[in-house]
Amino acid sequence: MKSHALGSTYQRTARLCLGILFAGVAGTGIGCTHTHIETQTPEHQEVCPLPEQRAKPGTPAPPQPPSVAAPVLVLQNVRLIDGSGKAPRDGVDIRIDGDRISAIGQNLAGPGATTLDLQGRTVLPGLIDAHTHMLSEPAGSFPAQVTRGVQETQADRVLRGVVNARKTLMAGFTTVRNVGGSDADASLRDAIAAGYVPGPRMLVANHAIGMTGGHCDHTNSLSRELFDPPDFRQGIGDGPLQLRKAVRHQIKLGADVIKICATGGVLSQGDGVGAPQLTPEEMRAIVDEANRAGRKVAAHAHGNQGIREAVAAGVHSIEHGSILDKKAISMMKRNGTFLVPTVYVGSFVEQAAKAGKLSPDSAQKALEIAPKMRNSFQMAYKSGVKIAFGTDAGVFSHGDNAREFSTMVKLGMRPMDAIIAATRSAAELLGLADTGQIREQFVADIIAVDGDPLADISVLERPVLVIKSGVVYASPAPPQAGTGVLPSQPAAAAAPTTSVGAGGPQH
Ligand SMILES: [Zn+2]
Repeated sequence: MKSHALGSTYQRTARLCLGILFAGVAGTGIGCTHTHIETQTPEHQEVCPLPEQRAKPGTPAPPQPPSVAAPVLVLQNVRLIDGSGKAPRDGVDIRIDGDRISAIGQNLAGPGATTLDLQGRTVLPGLIDAHTHMLSEPAGSFPAQVTRGVQETQADRVLRGVVNARKTLMAGFTTVRNVGGSDADASLRDAIAAGYVPGPRMLVANHAIGMTGGHCDHTNSLSRELFDPPDFRQGIGDGPLQLRKAVRHQIKLGADVIKICATGGVLSQGDGVGAPQLTPEEMRAIVDEANRAGRKVAAHAHGNQGIREAVAAGVHSIEHGSILDKKAISMMKRNGTFLVPTVYVGSFVEQAAKAGKLSPDSAQKALEIAPKMRNSFQMAYKSGVKIAFGTDAGVFSHGDNAREFSTMVKLGMRPMDAIIAATRSAAELLGLADTGQIREQFVADIIAVDGDPLADISVLERPVLVIKSGVVYASPAPPQAGTGVLPSQPAAAAAPTTSVGAGGPQH
């Protein structure tokens, strides 16, 4: 519903994050960039080794990353939903070598393998949320939100992001696409990849890009005496040239994906929720600039005109897509544009409006748009538009991401299709070719749940096993060591309360 919490991320302190330059592509499958790298993540080093890069003398060694994964771990006796859409298979073993799935079949536990008997539990790929705001959190009321936006520092937001990242991972989400925040999002991504803090693999947009006074302009309604007008550094520009510069700046600071505001939004002040914002010419320039750098574009879009114009400009996903019609749907199908529907947050914000927690402006917009969003989701699903799972977590509490499943299923989506949206389809949207399915040679991102998600999709809200890149973060029982070595545990500094075999899920 928004790019990030109203007023909470206006970046007077953006320079704070410039002291550390990371390659913006680490672990994203987008490619290798070695220009201006001072520090690489372990994942990036694996993909793009730089033997000439050595720690400077006297530099303390960082904590060991959790990506130093199990030598061999075999998950035994699982009911497998592999994310491809195939029917579940019972009595399956999954063998994990390091951070990869190496075999799927029967009796895979050879000598030396550590085993975990899942006793018939349902196993699925680690879930993917294509629309989060990891550094944001609901403030509880509009005045509290404004106060937070004025008082908070970048450090405050980053520390909250660290807590949110852990909640998200323990909720079974092993990958997220963070679409709109600040360049601190790239710092959180890199800290997770380096093993400093536990969390999902992140693709980040940094600042969302939009027009002066639009949904992405986080100084709307705030005192002009406190805040300078935002510019390309905060993603704000007018005209193709300024917006190209805004795209280049986000990429320079590590953006994996570009997020734009094609229309107004609910939680921004003073803009009509359905009103078109960026012009077709501006969006074409943004998409061209992003594509030249190998980045995809996600477009926040509620209103019909803005949706059509964004799709025509070549964006890869429409976020929210609240007012669709046959024309917009046929354009999306023709172009292969994904819809990221965020239907749970629509209802969440609708309830917040009824409870008096929003500004009068936002409340009116929330009540207007939520029913339309649900209706558009149903139209898009029936029409066969590609749907990727996304939640807008940050508008509601992180860790509740899986509530989106129940909302989608209540609106008529088959449970298996909801699962595909959060696994295979979301991975396709994110451009992660070896993630989102339980297949040989895919990244070992795996969760397990008690119960049957095809009969009761809400069981996905309570994962009992969470494995990311072969590392076990939560387990229903202690894995049994073979004659080999126990799986590596997440570094104590990275995940102080999670470990292999701690006797139960910790979340
Ligand atoms: Zn959002």
